Amino acid sequence: MANTSTTPMMEQYYEIKKQYPDAFLFYRVGDFYELFEEDAVKGAQILELTLTHRSNKTKNPIPMAGVPHMAVDNYVNTLVEKGYKVALCEQLEDPKKAKGMVKRGIIQLVTPGTMMAEGPNEAKESNYLTSVVTTKSGFGLAYSDLSTGEVYATHLKDFASVSNELLSLRTREVVYDGTLTEDNKDFLHKANITVSTPTPLEGEHAEISYVEQNLHNQAEKLAAEQLVSYLLTTQKRSLAHLQIAKSYEVNQYLQMSHVVQNNLELISSAKTGKKMGSLFWVIDKTHTAMGARLLKQWLSRPLLSVDQINHRQEMVQALLDGYFTRENVVDALKGVYDLERLTGRIAFGNVNARELLQLSRSLHAVPVILDALEQSDSDVLKDFAAKIDPLQGVAELISTTIVKDPPVLTTEGGLIREGVDAQLDRYRDAMDNGKQWLAQMEAEERQKTGIDNLKVGYNKVFGYYIQVSNGNKKKVPLDRYTRKQTLTNSERYITPELKEHENLIMEAQTRSTDLEYDIFVKLREETKKYIPALQKLGNQLAELDVYTGFATVAEQNNYCRPVFHTDNQDINVIDGRHPVVEKVMTAGSYIPNNVEMGEDTDVYLITGPNMSGKSTYMRQMALIAIMAQVGCFVPADSAELPVFDQIFTRIGAADDLISGQSTFMVEMSEANEALQYATKRSLVLFDEIGRGTATYDGMALAGAIVKYLHDKVGAKTLFATHYHELTDMDKTLNHLKNIHVGATEENGKLIFLHKILAGPADQSYGIHVAQLAGLPNKVLREATKLLKRLEAQGASELGPATEQLDLFAKVPNEPTEDKAEPKAEMSDADKEILDQISNLYLADKTP
Ligand code: ADP
Repeated sequence: MANTSTTPMMEQYYEIKKQYPDAFLFYRVGDFYELFEEDAVKGAQILELTLTHRSNKTKNPIPMAGVPHMAVDNYVNTLVEKGYKVALCEQLEDPKKAKGMVKRGIIQLVTPGTMMAEGPNEAKESNYLTSVVTTKSGFGLAYSDLSTGEVYATHLKDFASVSNELLSLRTREVVYDGTLTEDNKDFLHKANITVSTPTPLEGEHAEISYVEQNLHNQAEKLAAEQLVSYLLTTQKRSLAHLQIAKSYEVNQYLQMSHVVQNNLELISSAKTGKKMGSLFWVIDKTHTAMGARLLKQWLSRPLLSVDQINHRQEMVQALLDGYFTRENVVDALKGVYDLERLTGRIAFGNVNARELLQLSRSLHAVPVILDALEQSDSDVLKDFAAKIDPLQGVAELISTTIVKDPPVLTTEGGLIREGVDAQLDRYRDAMDNGKQWLAQMEAEERQKTGIDNLKVGYNKVFGYYIQVSNGNKKKVPLDRYTRKQTLTNSERYITPELKEHENLIMEAQTRSTDLEYDIFVKLREETKKYIPALQKLGNQLAELDVYTGFATVAEQNNYCRPVFHTDNQDINVIDGRHPVVEKVMTAGSYIPNNVEMGEDTDVYLITGPNMSGKSTYMRQMALIAIMAQVGCFVPADSAELPVFDQIFTRIGAADDLISGQSTFMVEMSEANEALQYATKRSLVLFDEIGRGTATYDGMALAGAIVKYLHDKVGAKTLFATHYHELTDMDKTLNHLKNIHVGATEENGKLIFLHKILAGPADQSYGIHVAQLAGLPNKVLREATKLLKRLEAQGASELGPATEQLDLFAKVPNEPTEDKAEPKAEMSDADKEILDQISNLYLADKTP
């Protein structure tokens, strides 16, 4: 890449660039960051910069583009947002003092997973960098949000589980130690995840041993080490805020794939990708960014332990009952800033005085919160309060050191209160005295010279001066005054006395600014000691914020506290509602529905016309289950629930964009997930399976899947179908119940009642809908006749014409025992479809 005859500067550039081939190198030259060569060409295009060339005497000019250093953050953010990395190369010495080439070096590598965004919206998002290591037995995975310093680690069996974690975490960057298959590369590329190579470090690093101290699994340890090494190499500073890694197992939580989380619109709407329309949108009543981030974490990891759930519920209940406690807590929380991220900035050493003050204001809110909790009559709230260390010492230290409204810059003084440091106060006196002297001198000189508008002023180039307007120039005593500067309307002079005082003032000023900076840095270092305590407090306040929010939402939306039983899988939800649909409808117009699936019911087969509410009903069940296991109250009059281990869905038409598969293929692989991994303790939602293929093909599959779930899996299953024929399955499947969404006819109009009723749906709704659509009467009459005939033909048997059955005869695959690939047994083509389905797994059914 290097030209043969390069300047020393370009030589230095190439030397540094060599070490960061996969990053945009922002090379500091004076007030600009310059990009060269390919970086310049590509950067100019992405950042809309002017591409110029650096002329060096050779024939090949070097492409170049620059950005002003004041605006560098924006440019860096744009690139990193797009998945690129940026290496910031600074001048490491003062160019004026440098002998020869100015020393330069990389001060930070900004990458998608280590970027710390600052806006209020970003504050509610976590940005996770994930590290993955391959071992003989599987994978180690660790992740961290650099801005808060939290670290988690787990180990996983296969890459599918790894990719699911990556997607669930919405990770932007993965540090990966192995070679990726083309498929995996493709997956990461489509998921917009930057892949980075590990950067192992030599020697001991306090951060690494601190972070991994509680990890016992080797894979997790390796992943955490790789993670911290990468953070240290990219950030190039000590990272005192990294927390002890928390080890977790995916099966410690209610498991839902990333697809399921998206389908159920837990965090964002599937259509818009925005918060609005999601479950999070309804139940997020938090007042701090920390609380919002924690709630998101909770939503993607609902609990399995009834004790833990109960604890959360008790906190919510106590805050729900104690209205005034809650009000006081909420009021205080409104004054709490993002402690977790402020702590991160303290560790980073880039916290400014304003932010320290935010920290102390937040801390000052804690005693108010503690008061509120302690004065409530709830033991759980009191216990919660007892565990909180309000860190008032830090708060006091900051608020007594920093002035009320400090500037953003920490290097130009004006930060430290009076009375903090005697020397600083003396400098300030000197400055004040000097200024008084100037005022006095101005008055005296006016008198002496008789120039009324004589003024003492100051500018950076000339220092203090005496200004006289042109009209008064003649009166200037040139024996004492020396002319310094001529302006259009006036002249500026100095006197030896003025300069002498100027020196005194300036010296006091420089010294006081330096001293203020020293005091500030000392304070910043002092607060560093409290990082772990501050992080703990931040977590506690975030948790309290979520509980308070849950109490508020329960009160506002009339939710009930669900009851869990561990000895059976019965579901008993009375008058349940869909939390989001209910919210977007006019109050009171949502029709509540029950889910009553006792011991004798594993499968609900749901029929009913389109748009009647089948899908809403199923989602409602899943959302209630998730809310309950998160510790939130639920939209129902009462709810008795089991603890679900996993949720599977096959819902809606939201194609899986990442894998780019066809709708039908997605449908089948989602179905397969459920059939393979669901247990008796899972919840399975299937909405209109089999739509993407020929009718009988689809119906056969749907039927076979229902039967498999019923016979082999035993999970609580809600199965909506438009294959009316399947409703006959209740004759052979004991634990299957038909339900339907009611509709009624009024003046020839079909009205959806949105009410779930027992039994299968009346088949003739289709004709009513056709009538609504304005189809010719002749067609409608003909259809009605046909329907009647069909119904008469096969009250218990299946209606469809037998000649279609040939289709099945052609299915090439033999039935298989493999649990992974449920296939319809098609060997006996002469039988009716239902018979086939009913006989499917009879052979291996226990008596
Ligand atoms: P389906 O799955 O049967 O096609 P949906 O579940 O998509 O129907 O529901 C269609 C619409 O009906 C929803 O968008 C909602 O506006 C309304 N709806 C569904 N369930 C209810 C209900 N229980 N109460 C009131 N309106 C409902």
